Amino acid sequence: MAEATFNFPKGFLWGTATAAHQVEGQNENNNWYAWENEPGRIHNGDKAGLACDWWNGRWQEDLSNAARAGQNAHRFSIEWSRIQPDANTWDEKALEKYREMIQGMKKLGMEPMLTLHHFSDPLWIYNQGGWENKDTIDHFIKYVRYAINGLKDLVDFWVTINEPAVYTVGGYLGGGFPPGKNDLGQAYNVLSNLIKGHAAAYHVIHEIQPDAKVGIAKQYRAMAPSRHWFPPDRWITRFSSKSFNDAFMGPIIDGNFRFAFKKEHIPQAIGTQDYVGINYYSQDQIRFKPLAFDAVFQERHFLPDAQLSGTGFIANVPEGMRAALKWAHQFNLPIYITENGVEDTQDTMRPAYLLEHLRKVWDAANSNWQVKGYFHWSQVDNFEWERGWSQRFGLWGIDPKTQERTHRTSADLYGAICTENGISSDTVRKYAPEMLDKLFPG
Ligand code: BGC
Repeated sequence: MAEATFNFPKGFLWGTATAAHQVEGQNENNNWYAWENEPGRIHNGDKAGLACDWWNGRWQEDLSNAARAGQNAHRFSIEWSRIQPDANTWDEKALEKYREMIQGMKKLGMEPMLTLHHFSDPLWIYNQGGWENKDTIDHFIKYVRYAINGLKDLVDFWVTINEPAVYTVGGYLGGGFPPGKNDLGQAYNVLSNLIKGHAAAYHVIHEIQPDAKVGIAKQYRAMAPSRHWFPPDRWITRFSSKSFNDAFMGPIIDGNFRFAFKKEHIPQAIGTQDYVGINYYSQDQIRFKPLAFDAVFQERHFLPDAQLSGTGFIANVPEGMRAALKWAHQFNLPIYITENGVEDTQDTMRPAYLLEHLRKVWDAANSNWQVKGYFHWSQVDNFEWERGWSQRFGLWGIDPKTQERTHRTSADLYGAICTENGISSDTVRKYAPEMLDKLFPG
């Protein structure tokens, strides 16, 4: 009998999250494949290649491990370029393969949460300007309609677009994603088209499936002024948070889109989310730099005493999860943590990171905020975009060459939490004893 337990609400969803291009392998008809084949674009020249070989059926092994470890949900994405390989072709076989995968998930007792767009675009869309081109909105909607009609008997929990702000910063503000531009005007245009695509998708899904739950997976980046006493630091932090965290949500609240000193009214976006999906990873400290034109007058760093992940990509700041939840709470809708995790090949930081972040999720749920589920990124190491295979986010490790999976301690820790629907002192003592005093001070 555990001495103490942080119990989560009944019916809480516990899962992991993945994305098509990162796990399926052999996705050779999208912009990321093209990007990976351009020299110098991906760390170390890495390629997704077979990724985790899910397209050949390896999802069965990974999701069986997940289900055995108590997970009752899975967030994943389908690949637009497989379903619609060119403007006039619909691939029923690809759709059928996704149906098999979703049926498999359900047999394993997992509720599917399906993302329709997770960073990758079909090559034919990319070649006509991607989301810079407003025609992409109509193409996206045709794809969404086809996908929903083909999957509506199996799925009713949808994410339209994953992290629109990260997609925009990545591709249009020098962030290392295709098409590799650094153009504020184009960033505004892309984000605006993504909002319109999201809003139209929301309405189409509800037209076909009135009871569907539809939302966005919004990355919330916590930000704090480097020097609290210095007003310019406070100003640039507020400006950055408004641009990154709030720009996409403004239209959903009142139709008003504001980004990069421009604004636009998008009334069709009002009210287009049934839940709030948050991806939270870390917090930045921001310092005003008047001459840093290219970096939008700022310099970012992590809290000096924060624990850092293997490649220095993530600082362990659980307080930021609290800020993300507080931000999500303003919408007065159910909240799902649609991603949270850390790159940690040795699995030395992940147990503490996981426990401390979940403790914040528990605080929110037990303050009667509507927190309904948590999806850890990720079940198994997968292809990390422009960072290639240099970062390992999996509860399970993978050798992409041999496809061999190795089990990390965090898989057992997370398994015990999912199975108990709570964090017990016994579990912490067993898998992360160094965290016992912090979580359960005597
Ligand atoms: C993305 C994932 C990615 C994760 C870790 C998120 O921004 O949605 O696709 O793997 O971060 O880098």
